Amino acid sequence: MTAIRAYLDHNATTPLRPEARAAMLAALDVVGNPSSIHAEGRAARDLVEAARQTVAAFLGGQTDDVVFTSGATEALNLVLSPEAYEGEPFQRLLLNDGEHAAVRAGHRFGAAVERVALHDDGRLDLDALAAALARPGRALVALQAANNETGVIQPVAEAAALTHAAGGILICDAVQAAGKIACDFNSLPADILIVSAHKFGGPKGVGALCVGGVSTHLKRALIRGGGQERGLRSGTENVAGIAGMAAAVEALSGAAGSDAAWRGRVEADVRRIAPEASVFGSAAGRLPNTVCFAIPGVEARLLTMSLDLEGVAVSAGSACASGKIEPSVGLLAMGVPADLARGAVRVSLGWSTSEADVAAFGAALARVMGRIGSRRAA
Ligand code: PLP
Repeated sequence: MTAIRAYLDHNATTPLRPEARAAMLAALDVVGNPSSIHAEGRAARDLVEAARQTVAAFLGGQTDDVVFTSGATEALNLVLSPEAYEGEPFQRLLLNDGEHAAVRAGHRFGAAVERVALHDDGRLDLDALAAALARPGRALVALQAANNETGVIQPVAEAAALTHAAGGILICDAVQAAGKIACDFNSLPADILIVSAHKFGGPKGVGALCVGGVSTHLKRALIRGGGQERGLRSGTENVAGIAGMAAAVEALSGAAGSDAAWRGRVEADVRRIAPEASVFGSAAGRLPNTVCFAIPGVEARLLTMSLDLEGVAVSAGSACASGKIEPSVGLLAMGVPADLARGAVRVSLGWSTSEADVAAFGAALARVMGRIGSRRAA
């Protein structure tokens, strides 16, 4: 008998959309190198350039301003460097503890990093950003569009206005926004937007950055060599991955959106089964697909492993380092006590989620909590 699984971890990665798979399989048979000038090479180049147009249109940018990378981590490493840009180097990086590790650990600003506080609801404290920007030194600001753990949506437009008024530029990690909320320069008026294909039905290992700011000119590559991607990212392009990413983008426009209703059901199930649970970020605007909660006294590892055995895949918000559960820095920055943060579990829905998956989560949580409750009572 095949076990039926409910995959509810779309913020970690999404199943490949059939459209992306088909585009990738077709691209795998294109033999040329996109840098070669013969017909085979030109066929591969055409695939890459068509994908560049699709991604640029999706982000509301110019085709020439899209750079394909191996994913968001690489793109963030490329742009979060004081010397990546033409003109005077940036002197400091302003970020918050809710940013992904690819931002917190991926920059090259050394000690020239200043933390901007989050409100308890998970949103960036814009007064704190304004105060930080008023201090001396040209600033690069990193602000994610939405948080991967809680789904909290950040005030990117307001932060960008403050940043621009102070002469800085804003990098927006839009990885969790793509495919879930508006994800273009109109809604997210940052100077650079960064996306990753595997978070919206594309393949793992391919992403893109798009430069939107008119005065933002990248000059320094992270990966140097043959000068591909206008010299900003050398290495023969991942043609099949890039084609798969574009197909996933195209599939998004026709995507149905039952996430929000089902998120409500997941949340209602959590509150019914464990009325003492906290749902993080629920006071702020959140992605329609994400619920992050903790049940006091129940460690995330126990809950996620028990749900896994019941056939439901969700993830723990905390990291396990050397056998010790470390609470997420993002939740701590929202004022969540460390003990409660150690229990954070994230349920994230997506394009392949069915009503049966959502029902399976509720039923599994009820069984697991029933067992934990009777063990405690014994
Ligand atoms: N930023 C956010 C908010 C993410 O959720 C992730 C993936 O977990 C990344 C960046 C890194 O993306 P990639 O897997 O493409 O390197």
